[in-house]
Amino acid sequence: MTLGATAVYATAATRELAQAADRAFADAHPLEVLAWAARTFGSRLAVASSMADEVVAHLAATVAPGVDVLFLDTGYHFPQTLQFRREVAQRLDVSVVEQDALYGKDLFARDPDACCTVRKVFPLNAALEPYDAWVSGVRRDESAGRAASPVVGWDAARGMVKVNPIATWSQDQVDQYAAQHGLRVNPLRELGFASIGCAPCTRAVAPGEDPRAGRWSGFAKTECGLHP
Ligand code: SF4
Repeated sequence: MTLGATAVYATAATRELAQAADRAFADAHPLEVLAWAARTFGSRLAVASSMADEVVAHLAATVAPGVDVLFLDTGYHFPQTLQFRREVAQRLDVSVVEQDALYGKDLFARDPDACCTVRKVFPLNAALEPYDAWVSGVRRDESAGRAASPVVGWDAARGMVKVNPIATWSQDQVDQYAAQHGLRVNPLRELGFASIGCAPCTRAVAPGEDPRAGRWSGFAKTECGLHP
């Protein structure tokens, strides 16, 4: 697709807006970041949630009541995650929008990259179409590949702003926020699942083990492709 001149200028302006916001909010509390995002993008802001906990959805709902929270139903989630998703929709002032995957089964065992592409990346791309900005719970301390994540960035693959309000937080800070606000975490966390994805591709990790070591264990794969 060839962008017209107006679209190119608009894209460049939005990218510069994201870069300026990243500089301005480098050390800001997630609520400040999300308040800016809510003011700037209004109803064209969405939150993507893996339902590992309620923290980012709660932060977003605090400054943007009723904000859309997107949860990708890959068809392979743990029952605990699906139950947790129902509870989040009831407990928080958010609108949880479930996206159904449209593709075949058991691709994960043969080609997890292809499986993530058709069950996560394509559905998220489609789900984000109506929005100008999206919020993720990516944190820099999760993995080497996420260590340079900006607080506000330009998602070039999707042509939209990506907000990572808790990029600078540690797992301890996330847990403290959850405890302070009486928020729940996915019960799988108590069973050693430090990072929670689809059931066939996620195992519990040992104390001190890399939190993401339980994702696609046995494959040279560390990301699902949602966070290029
Ligand atoms: Fe498929 Fe596993 Fe990716 Fe889920 S995490 S979409 S089951 S490869």
